[in-house]
Amino acid sequence: MKKEKVIAIVLAAGKGKRMKSDTAKQYMMLGKYPVIYYSLKQFEQSGVDEIILVVGEGEVEYCSKEIVEKFQIKKVTNIIEGGKERYESVYHALATIKEGEYVLIHDGARPMITEEIIASSIENVKQYRACVVGVPVKDTIKFVDKDNYAKETPDRNFIWAVQTPQSFQLQIIKQAYENMMVSEDKSVTDDAMVVERYTKQSIKMIMGSYENIKITTPEDLAIAKCFLII
Ligand code: C5P
Repeated sequence: MKKEKVIAIVLAAGKGKRMKSDTAKQYMMLGKYPVIYYSLKQFEQSGVDEIILVVGEGEVEYCSKEIVEKFQIKKVTNIIEGGKERYESVYHALATIKEGEYVLIHDGARPMITEEIIASSIENVKQYRACVVGVPVKDTIKFVDKDNYAKETPDRNFIWAVQTPQSFQLQIIKQAYENMMVSEDKSVTDDAMVVERYTKQSIKMIMGSYENIKITTPEDLAIAKCFLII
């Protein structure tokens, strides 16, 4: 039987303005290695067949030499420039994929991804065609109005915080993005939202981990350092 090809898109084209640093957050050091190294290494050791790395404008050569070659991430088959918004970066990456069955889309700014989470994403996308890693929220969540008055308190048993990888059958995610790109509305904040809005495919939430944080602000880097040593 033909092996079903699984491709990872690792996103590292964000400017990371909330990090308040001259170095983009994906290249900042976390322990001994740059932030982006960690997720690339996990995908390298996983059941994923190929990795497409999406980087910022003018960063392809730097990443090729200083990250991919230096750390011998052999599964990286393509390094491309992303766009201004995350959805554009994903769209650019999807456009380069000519064949394959499944795509795992991961924020390179989430270095604490594990082999177990990747394996579970692959297993579940094969079963459900669309699955997203996340965790049930621990805090109570409030909907507020524009003046920050509490409007409503949803039942937190039904609320998850969404992480990555977000995994899809290739044709589903390609079609979802094609449909969105021709629409007026570009207010999406993750890939699952594109699939929810522009296809009929349901999305299975699967367990990620509370350590699988996204490095956004300086304190996130400090928290990730703690996770590295425990
Ligand atoms: O900005 P934010 O932290 O939400 O970005 C999530 C992920 O998407 C990061 O890994 C970032 O590098 C990536 N991204 C991208 N292209 C953009 C914006 C964000 O690849 N234009």
